[in-house]
Amino acid sequence: MASPQGSRAPLEFGGPLGAAVLMLLLPATMFHLLLVARSGPARLLGPPPYLPGPEVLWSPEMLLLWFTWLGLQAALYLLPAGKVAEGQELKDKSRLRYPINGNPIYDFFLGRELNPRIWSFDFKYFCELRPGLIGWVLINLALLMQEAELRGSPSLAMWLVNGFQLLYVGDALWHEEAVLTTMDITHDGFGFMLAFGDLAWVPFTYSLQAQFLLHHPQPLGLPMASVICLINAVGYYIFRGANSQKSIFRKNPSDPRVAGLETIPTATGRQLLVSGWWGMVRHPNYLGDLIMALAWSLPCGVSHLLPYFYLLYFTALLVHREARDEQQCLRKYGLAWHEYCRRVPYRILPYVY
Ligand code: NDP
Repeated sequence: MASPQGSRAPLEFGGPLGAAVLMLLLPATMFHLLLVARSGPARLLGPPPYLPGPEVLWSPEMLLLWFTWLGLQAALYLLPAGKVAEGQELKDKSRLRYPINGNPIYDFFLGRELNPRIWSFDFKYFCELRPGLIGWVLINLALLMQEAELRGSPSLAMWLVNGFQLLYVGDALWHEEAVLTTMDITHDGFGFMLAFGDLAWVPFTYSLQAQFLLHHPQPLGLPMASVICLINAVGYYIFRGANSQKSIFRKNPSDPRVAGLETIPTATGRQLLVSGWWGMVRHPNYLGDLIMALAWSLPCGVSHLLPYFYLLYFTALLVHREARDEQQCLRKYGLAWHEYCRRVPYRILPYVY
């Protein structure tokens, strides 16, 4: 093939003749070595002791075994587990990505592919918001209707749980673009954790309060219901305020809604907010989310721990997630992150944690 400059690149392996010889010589050498190794004298430079007949060299079972082996390896290769490494730069300046052997259990859990796609269909992005999150609301609604069938009308507690969670899911879908900057999309692969989490864990365990209420009706008066609504409203206000403030700031730091906020410069050129919601604690959005989680459990009364499972699990998840995010921010921002931690010492709950 002509090089871009027009001169021909030198041919390797002796050109076409050398290539043809090698294609005969290499298989012949391999056979020779194997046959000689089985013979008594095992002489490398002698002729092979005998040439086996075609019935020894060919059998359909062997062919099947060979394809099974290749198929198994191909399936393992395609398994979304393990690290993905970038190859060397190609002539067209692009780089191909290759799956690398890793720890299969760990890699299967966390996922090897960061953004698995078929054409423009992005599996992780699709699963993050749509089937599981909307499925959660549909399960809640089905439970509400079942309660209406069972008891004549849905209980106030069931209305609250449905309303609060519908608001949460509606908010996530309304701000769908915000998911693009979350850790799930930018950092975590699409492995068991996200696939199972999005498609099974979210719809079936997040609807636990509604499941509980269907089988364990709880009396709830209007004054208590109002207090719970207020708690949910406070949580939502903090959650939405913090998330929107960061998202506006990341899109355009000179937007008038965030331009007056105090910031810390970092070596990457990005800045960190150090006043407003992000000056109160280092993860105000988690705080708002946890307050809402409390409001979703309270309509279920205090007779059982089960409806509080979400609050407990979510506290553990966010404490762990916060620690992972801090590690990543420390790697990204170094000294500037230390300075941020000094200025904003609490992680999630002011004066406590
Ligand atoms: P966050 O939205 O909290 O984003 C963290 C990133 O924000 C950091 O990596 C950093 O990235 C940036 N950042 C941190 N501090 C500052 C600062 N002071 N100024 C400017 N930028 C800063 O990440 P999550 O993905 O964890 O959470 C998103 C939302 O999803 C939250 O509200 C959370 O509660 C919710 N969530 C809900 C779950 C559920 O199951 N219901 C599960 C997980 C999360 P960079 O600097 O690169 O922009």
